[in-house]
Amino acid sequence: MKRRDFIRSTAGATLAATAARQLRAQTPNILPNKSIKPVVISSANGNKFKNGGDMTCVQKAWTMITQGADVLDSLIAGVNLVELDPLDDSVGYGGLPNADGVVQLDSCCMHGPKKRAGGVACIEGVRTPSLVAQKVMEMTDHHLIVGQGAQDFARSMGFKIEEDLNTEHSRKLWLEWKRRIDPEHYLDPDKRSGEARRVQEEMIADGLLDPRRVYGTINCNGVNAKGEVCGVTTTSGLSWKIPGRVGDSPILGAGLYVDGDSGAAGSTGRGEANLYGLCSYLVVENLRHGMTPKDAGLDACKRIKKNTIEKRLLNSRGEPNFNVNFYVLNAKGEYAGVALYANTFAVCTEDGPKTVASEPLLQGKPED
Ligand code: ASP
Repeated sequence: MKRRDFIRSTAGATLAATAARQLRAQTPNILPNKSIKPVVISSANGNKFKNGGDMTCVQKAWTMITQGADVLDSLIAGVNLVELDPLDDSVGYGGLPNADGVVQLDSCCMHGPKKRAGGVACIEGVRTPSLVAQKVMEMTDHHLIVGQGAQDFARSMGFKIEEDLNTEHSRKLWLEWKRRIDPEHYLDPDKRSGEARRVQEEMIADGLLDPRRVYGTINCNGVNAKGEVCGVTTTSGLSWKIPGRVGDSPILGAGLYVDGDSGAAGSTGRGEANLYGLCSYLVVENLRHGMTPKDAGLDACKRIKKNTIEKRLLNSRGEPNFNVNFYVLNAKGEYAGVALYANTFAVCTEDGPKTVASEPLLQGKPED
């Protein structure tokens, strides 16, 4: 090789090496194993309440996930906005109280990659039960702590315990309910449920209760670019419930289930109906067997419809007179909101937060 050619080829090699170095510098050091578009889905209240800030739950969680935060930490930071917002009367602070006027809260969370979960039920005096559920997951060998024990545990973890989580709004509604029904007198089951429904319908007709808020909860599930899936559910449960009643929300497999390899599902709506079939577990098992999120969720809705046979729970068409919703996400980042009857759900992707229609199993309204 002539000297001139040698210099030219060495210079070329140096230039190529510099370009490769520059490209390497622009590429993140650790490339995710899988390339998945991060997604966060939740019940519709996850794209409504902001607790005085500028982001909704799904937006906050998605932003944290894409900045590299742990998926469960991000989802819990999202639902904390709703728990703390006094305007949402179905979750956390200001949630509608039980029949004695006491706010009792339920929550659970599951971490897909860590294969860990924790929950609290019937906890009083703590505005953010989802954070207590996370402490149960992180700091104990248990899955579920309830009632006074849950509050004592929260205190020992440094949570502020408040005398009363009612807001003026939730207290007024409870007093109005008290005025209209006397829960001290236990009626026979049919009359009692008829009476409770009459009062509920009256309060909805009088504009005191949002029909979607008689039940109310937030479930929020998310996946990051590595395909790591987590979920959390938090609620004040059924309004005016018998003190001590626990619904589906803090029960693993019912209000929430996550399997790191398959996906996550959570629920809002009539907890008793969901508990009967452990439907979030059913949905995630369906995902494991390869169903799409929509089909996996609709299958659970069909199971609920099939299991609902008591007359008091049926409308004039012989179909369930209540709604149950599922928020389903698989580990590939595909998602669906499904429900017995038409409803909406919230989602945040790289296109920003949106509230979109769920896929209903049945036509019409529950109470028609
Ligand atoms: N599923 C909740 C419960 O039964 C209530 C709800 O989602 O509205 O406690």
